[in-house]
Amino acid sequence: MTENQKTSCQRCGCKVSSDDQYNVNGLILCDDCYLEESSPVKACNPLAVYSAKRFEAEGGPQAEERLNEQQKAIYDYIKTKGKATPKELCNKFGLSPRELENQVAILRHLELTKGKKEDNTLYIVPF
Ligand SMILES: [Zn+2]
Repeated sequence: MTENQKTSCQRCGCKVSSDDQYNVNGLILCDDCYLEESSPVKACNPLAVYSAKRFEAEGGPQAEERLNEQQKAIYDYIKTKGKATPKELCNKFGLSPRELENQVAILRHLELTKGKKEDNTLYIVPF
């Protein structure tokens, strides 16, 4: 694939370069549509929101048990370091900013991490 090759997103019809497109269930999607399709914390996935909320209410150390391997790794990293910038986490785990945002949103949902501003830099810190 060449970098300039453009395809249309099969959902919203916008032009996406081959670098930015995602193949989901046989559909070529742009970044935004892919995010909508895959984000587990969107309101259109009531079960995910429900279970995260329920979990918050219960609290407790089992919160960690609900994380997937990558979320656990990110959480461990943040716990070990005390704080981490999103950029650092992207580099460390090979995620795009959006993918990271998704993962961090889940950690935030479970009250495992939170955002914290220090000297105009946003850090993600243990809750
Ligand atoms: Zn799209």
